[in-house]
Amino acid sequence: LSYFAAGRVGLALAITNASVSTVWPPAGIALAVLLLGGYRYWPAITVGAFAVNLMITGDPFSSAAIAGGNTLEGLVGAWLTVRYAGGASAVNRPSDLLRFVLLGALASTMIAAAVGVATLTIAGLSPLRSFAFTWGTWWLGDAIGVIEVTPLVLVVAERARAHVGWPDRAAGTEAAVVGAVALGIDLVVFLRPAGSALAGYPLIFLVLPPIVWAAFRFGPLGASLAGVALSVVAIAGTLLLVGPFAPQPVVTRLLDLRFFLGTVIVTGLLVGAERYQRLRAEAALAVAGHDLERRVRERTATLAAAQSIGRLGSWELDLQTREVTWSDEMYRIYGYGEERFPVTFTSALDRVIPEDQQRIRTNMLTLRRLPDPAAAESPANQFRIRLPDGTIRVLEGRGRIVRTPGEAALRMMGTVQDITDRVAMVSALEDREAELLRSNRELEQFAYVASHDLQEPLGLVEGYTKLVQERYAGRLDADADEFLTYARRAAVRMRELIDDLLSFSRLAPPRQPFPRIDATVALDEALASLGATIQEAHAEVRRETPLPQVSADPSALARVFQNLLSNAIKFRSDRPPEIRISAERFGDGWRFSVADNGIGIPPEYHEQIFAIFQRLHTREQYPGTGMGLAIAKKIVEALGGRIWVDSDGIPGKGSTFHFTIPDPTQPLGGSSPLGGTPHPSTGPLTV
Ligand code: ADP
Repeated sequence: LSYFAAGRVGLALAITNASVSTVWPPAGIALAVLLLGGYRYWPAITVGAFAVNLMITGDPFSSAAIAGGNTLEGLVGAWLTVRYAGGASAVNRPSDLLRFVLLGALASTMIAAAVGVATLTIAGLSPLRSFAFTWGTWWLGDAIGVIEVTPLVLVVAERARAHVGWPDRAAGTEAAVVGAVALGIDLVVFLRPAGSALAGYPLIFLVLPPIVWAAFRFGPLGASLAGVALSVVAIAGTLLLVGPFAPQPVVTRLLDLRFFLGTVIVTGLLVGAERYQRLRAEAALAVAGHDLERRVRERTATLAAAQSIGRLGSWELDLQTREVTWSDEMYRIYGYGEERFPVTFTSALDRVIPEDQQRIRTNMLTLRRLPDPAAAESPANQFRIRLPDGTIRVLEGRGRIVRTPGEAALRMMGTVQDITDRVAMVSALEDREAELLRSNRELEQFAYVASHDLQEPLGLVEGYTKLVQERYAGRLDADADEFLTYARRAAVRMRELIDDLLSFSRLAPPRQPFPRIDATVALDEALASLGATIQEAHAEVRRETPLPQVSADPSALARVFQNLLSNAIKFRSDRPPEIRISAERFGDGWRFSVADNGIGIPPEYHEQIFAIFQRLHTREQYPGTGMGLAIAKKIVEALGGRIWVDSDGIPGKGSTFHFTIPDPTQPLGGSSPLGGTPHPSTGPLTV
């Protein structure tokens, strides 16, 4: 309907031909409708155009053809605008706007002009000789119609869709002022009567400032509103034969005006589009700015919380002004709670106790004198401060010199952590360790002295019991003989215990460095001293790998092997003992293993058996003092190694004892000192 109405107005202004007008707003309406509503609105255009033309010419065929041309023009214009010029938002971006003017307004409108003029010519409604001029008029009418109308419809629709409300008071007032000024100027320029005082002045370019002003302040809406107002006033004036275009011949008068209007409006729209982009960018920037501010605030709060949880303060020192910035936690660490005051390097240093001040100064100087101080970081540095209430706290500081990019001046920044509690704890631990070592030494000393001094009286008891037994055998009664036997056995056992205790406490502290020995020699020594036992038990001892050279005391190492081997034989199951000995690389040392097929050890006893006098069986079941493993452990640890057992306690599956001996001279993964890779078995070695 609006297409029809606008068409009526347009055709009323036709000059050269009843059906051809330089003022053709329906083209703009058609394009806007297709852009906003979609291509499916084309029938509305066809019907509107047909009705308008039918009223003028009364000829249904030519009207139908013209309507077809108009519809096609709209569809092509809409397609080009959507494809190349941002569609319905074509007026919001200068580059889109230019493409819209070229494709949507100037190019597509050639179609309707060509179809229309051809139809009129064929129908005999327009002479062939004026084809070019008529075509030009038609084209211009459609093109300028698009430039005038489409932007306004698009902008209004966009604002309606986005529910943009009325402007606030200040903006409303300004809009009213701009509108009034624009309209006033338009009226003066185009409607001044021929005989008026202003008649002779070339005022025409005065119309430009208000439209640019409107565009600059109110974007595409301002530009298109001012444009439409200008068009209406200018066309009215020119038709009334007043204003700057009135003196021109009738044929070119409106054409020239339309050219002029098109140029001015496009200029206004360009400014409007630019403005739109600018406002959008500013809005986006403001949002980003707010977001950034919020994030900075959050981060700062997190940092402060982290500093307070970790009792970790941070500081920054300007190396030129020597001014210091402290974080909140710094003030708290220095005992000031929420109190704040300016700090300088000197005033901060004053709080450090005098003995520690010089060290801090030296550290700073060293850092600054480095060839590239900016890359340097100071090592952790402990110092003590005196709080305002007189207490002393221990702090650990770290610092680094930083250079802000592009600035010559250096700053220093660093952290300070209150480690008073940690230092107190460490020193308490150290005290306790020293105390333990001392009491341990005393105990060993005591064990040694006691067992040594017990030896002599025990020797007498043993000797005299033996004497009585031998001399008076059969002379006392049977009971007495039996009691004497018990007494002698107990004395023997006591000597065993004392001997073991003595050898345990006699084990000297490590005599570094140990000589380099072949572990095979130590093993052979152990096997030799166990020869009878092995034979009696029909034990099979296999050396599964060659044994390496190690740094160790030879007889001590032999003792370890001997204790492990004798246990392996002693704690045998009902099968004859099978013992496998091997060695392999372990970290930067060696791990020796002695595996048996004996009664095994339940996991809950794996620690306990290495303590002195700890046994899992009675003497009737298995003889022994419970000192063998304690002695082995003491020796291995003196060599710098570790000893442990693997066993699940199932009889017959046996146990495997492992011990390590560090060997730093042997690089990791190096070949065996015996040459070649260890081979699985050197054959059974039954002694
Ligand atoms: P002892 O052999 O004189 O009893 P040890 O200190 O050598 O003392 O051993 C402590 C205990 O560990 C033993 O009494 C025994 O119960 C257990 N044990 C040691 N070696 C083995 C082994 N190879 N198999 C089973 N049990 C073992």
